[in-house]
Amino acid sequence: MSFFKRRATSLRAEAVTPTRRQLLAGICGCCLGSGLNVSPAAAQIPAVQQHIAAARAAAGSDLQAYMRLVQPLLPASGTSGPTPAQLRAMPPPAPFKAFDNLVFVGNHYVTAWAIPTADGIILIDALDNDAEAEHHAEAGMRGAGLDPAQVKTVIVTHGHADHYGGANWFAQRYGSRVAMHEADWAMMETGLEYDRPELGRPPRRDIVLRDGEIFRQGGTAIEILFTPGHTWGTISLLMDVQEGGRRHRAMLWGGTAFNFGGQPRRVPRLQAYIDSTVKAQQAAQRQEVDVFLSNHTGWDQAVEKNARRRPGGPNPFVIGVDATQRALTVMRECALATMAAWTAA
Ligand SMILES: [Zn+2]
Repeated sequence: MSFFKRRATSLRAEAVTPTRRQLLAGICGCCLGSGLNVSPAAAQIPAVQQHIAAARAAAGSDLQAYMRLVQPLLPASGTSGPTPAQLRAMPPPAPFKAFDNLVFVGNHYVTAWAIPTADGIILIDALDNDAEAEHHAEAGMRGAGLDPAQVKTVIVTHGHADHYGGANWFAQRYGSRVAMHEADWAMMETGLEYDRPELGRPPRRDIVLRDGEIFRQGGTAIEILFTPGHTWGTISLLMDVQEGGRRHRAMLWGGTAFNFGGQPRRVPRLQAYIDSTVKAQQAAQRQEVDVFLSNHTGWDQAVEKNARRRPGGPNPFVIGVDATQRALTVMRECALATMAAWTAA
């Protein structure tokens, strides 16, 4: 039985809505889809199967969403989920606090996280375009009691349009600064990797973030971890999150899918991705990261986690140090399975 059929069965047991099942059934898209292009024979290579088995073991029952990274290497599920365009067209979820200082203001396709500080708001990613910046991110902040005029910085995790598309809107309306890694500023200036007419134009080069740098604003410190792979300038973020006086350490993974385009660039990109998961795992272990976040709810299941919250109950976003390590293992094993399929082709 395929992952998607198993997942659908377990979800029925959880009595979720048909829409929610649909959302988990098999979303595809630039930043969400696997981006794989492999022959059916490649899926049968022993090394591919071994890495898929290792990924599946690490995923357990709680991290199955990441198995979509190897969807083309799995038996056909017969299900297909909504497209990114359909997800974008859905009314966005109501904004919610994952933690006291981390607010979800995204939609069903792509996530923006707002971090209120003593000196304005840091917005992590800016959604697809002006309309989403206004009607999803800005409206979400207002709904959560935050003043969007206080967005001082937009940190963009990587240079794909579904993450920077609304950055110009914040820069022009509120004078927000935009921060990215040098490699993706350069990519956006010389040749966009992912662009669509309905998505926003790239922002102009502003703040350049570097590996290991601590970005500080209003008493909040965000460690920049350079994790190339998904793009050559992808960054992941390490930060403290709090709830009711309890502190947790969070990692926000900056780019998940293997959508690297055609040969010859895809193999070095995938190797960089594999190396980045090792580096991130070491940092996460050292810092005892127990919260693992994404910039797409399709990966970290942020909307589903929030729906599971109960007053006085545990915070579903606190998955623990072990599960954080396993999430990175799943991604690496999926990347290794893909590498085995690509290099054998
Ligand atoms: Zn992307």
